[in-house]
Amino acid sequence: MLTLDTKVSLLGKIGKTASKYLKNLDILTVEDIIFYYPTRYDDLSQITPIGRLEPWTTVTVIGKVELIQNKRSPKKHTMITEAIISDDTGKMKVVWFNQPFIGKILKNGDEIYLSGKVDEDYYGIQMISPVYEKAMNFAPTHTARIAPVYSLTERLSQKQIRFLIKMSLAAVNQVVDPLPKEIKKKYNLLNLQEALCETHFPTDFEKLESARRRLKFDELFLLALRNELTRFELKKNCAPAIPFRQEETRAFVGALPFILTETQKKSAWEILKDLKKENPMNRLLDGDVGSGKTVVAAIAMLQAALSGYQSAIMAPTEILARQHFKSFVKFFPDFKIGLLTNSFSFLTSKDEISKKELLEEITVGGVEIIIGTHALIQETVKFKKLGLAIVDEQHRFGVDQRASLKKSANLVATKWPQVSPHFLTMTATPIPRTLALSVYGDLDISVINEQPKDRLPIITRIIRAEKRAEAHKFVREEIKKGRQAFVICPLIDPSDKLGVKSVKEEYEKLREIFPEFVIGLMHGKLKSAEKEKIMDEFAGNKINILVSTSVVEVGVDIPNATIMIIEGAERFGLAQLHQFRGRIGRGSYQSYCFTVQENFSQVSTERLRAFETCRNGFLLAEKDLEFRGRGDILGTRQSGKTDFQIASFTDVEIMKLARDAARALIAENPALSSFPLLKSRVEEFFARAHLE
Ligand code: ADP
Ligand code: MG
Repeated sequence: MLTLDTKVSLLGKIGKTASKYLKNLDILTVEDIIFYYPTRYDDLSQITPIGRLEPWTTVTVIGKVELIQNKRSPKKHTMITEAIISDDTGKMKVVWFNQPFIGKILKNGDEIYLSGKVDEDYYGIQMISPVYEKAMNFAPTHTARIAPVYSLTERLSQKQIRFLIKMSLAAVNQVVDPLPKEIKKKYNLLNLQEALCETHFPTDFEKLESARRRLKFDELFLLALRNELTRFELKKNCAPAIPFRQEETRAFVGALPFILTETQKKSAWEILKDLKKENPMNRLLDGDVGSGKTVVAAIAMLQAALSGYQSAIMAPTEILARQHFKSFVKFFPDFKIGLLTNSFSFLTSKDEISKKELLEEITVGGVEIIIGTHALIQETVKFKKLGLAIVDEQHRFGVDQRASLKKSANLVATKWPQVSPHFLTMTATPIPRTLALSVYGDLDISVINEQPKDRLPIITRIIRAEKRAEAHKFVREEIKKGRQAFVICPLIDPSDKLGVKSVKEEYEKLREIFPEFVIGLMHGKLKSAEKEKIMDEFAGNKINILVSTSVVEVGVDIPNATIMIIEGAERFGLAQLHQFRGRIGRGSYQSYCFTVQENFSQVSTERLRAFETCRNGFLLAEKDLEFRGRGDILGTRQSGKTDFQIASFTDVEIMKLARDAARALIAENPALSSFPLLKSRVEEFFARAHLE
């Protein structure tokens, strides 16, 4: 008997041959075949009478074989099979090349379906190499229907896989539907067995739609369950309940040189509410560049410190860690604040401190706020009482690194059992809403979607390379007014091959063009101390123009810098360009961003245009998706994608349903104990996701 475990190789002659190639697609059994969905469909369902065929259309015909014969073509050494097919309305010629077996399969008098293109020559209408199928007393597989098309390796034909699928579907009733009845009913979902049959061999488009909806739901539901379980597990952990200290917070906010925006306040409030709870916060703060995420983080850290808990913030670059250190020292002159990177260790309460001593202090609680790079997640860092862990620019860290900060936060566990800190991640990668829902489904999200009021929108212009001199003239005037400029280049060293600007060349060139100004040079290969010196000088307006690679991409905050020239702009993604541009326009002066275009292909032009006209990081991210495909944007977190066969991140409606369903189910039945099958599916899904 055919079972789900039956090996493909046992499915007749075709199965035997095909199994070798199907193995490459990880298809080994009948069950695997059943769950291998079509990637698209050919609509061959309309039958056209022969008398009404039009040349150059794709049609399906049903007719009778009047005559069929093989012959050898006189010129080429090909075998030609010719047939005359008729129906009530007319006759036509059909020709196949080099498939002499067709002359044996089809006999005079056979009723057959033919699908393919209509051609026309001297003798009238004809079809060349159509797909053929004998009409039987069951529904056709390849013609006269909505025919499934599968993505295959080259040695397999659509006919072969359809044959195998049809055979395998005989076992479809053995497939157990993991979805609880109530959910199917509530969300109006087909039975799994029916959905599988209909997705392979749809009765009509309506049924196909329902079938696909059901199968997409299944995939998104697993993802949603995984997210909900993660949330649930986290909620089981204890976290220190950190009360909201209203008075001190008010004083802190009141002393800021600006007024918080509405969404800054709202985000801060959401965070403060989480901190009060006895289970850990797991929240993403998503705000466009320059929207003021740091101060929101500071408000959260203030609560921790006031209640005697340590807090840590991890930044992706040393430049940024140092900048945060300086900001926090200004924010909180009375707290003991530490800075830990691979090359620096500072502590505000000491004049000088070695790394080893700083680590000691962290462990004994002599540091209240600790800022650092990934040095923070090294084994040797042991916190005394970490209450809040923050990752800034989280998209710059790998999944593993983020996980380690959480874990290293848990290193405390030895001293302070069963307690995890509250966890906040911050990002300026505008994640399109649709992606956020699924990709970050395990997180709560706060959004800062406005810029501080005093900001003037940055003026962005594309300039042609020949007009660079005009831009330089403009730079000169702005610098004379006291402002500063960034010049961004794609490379560090000159490269003859690429003809792309390097910072070193540009630095030399600008020194000639602007002999009256101080030009700085910044790139990733400089020593930490040099970088530090240059950033300090730039922040202190001792450098007028900073020529830099993408190292200044994230976080750097110099409100007096108002001009940016991006050389080789077409080499950067839109989201990255937007990050660069976020370095300016951070104060109350009018800022200008010039992208120098040297490549005039249509795509480059369209992309730069999009950058010129659009200031919203979220929209730009969406556009980037269009230009580059979905691949690049999310890096590792994207991995969810590979878990899907049929669903996609654009299935927002279904995604929402799946999330609601998962939430309700987990709330009712946290361990999924009444749904063992579902449980094992989710576990498999977890395991797969962890392997990536
Ligand atoms: P990002 O969200 O990119 O991390 P930052 O936190 O670095 O942004 O803030 C950018 C700049 O805006 C900083 O100089 C900060 O002091 C300032 N800032 C933050 N919030 C406001 C506000 N509400 N009004 C005016 N300036 C603000
Ligand atoms: Mg920032």
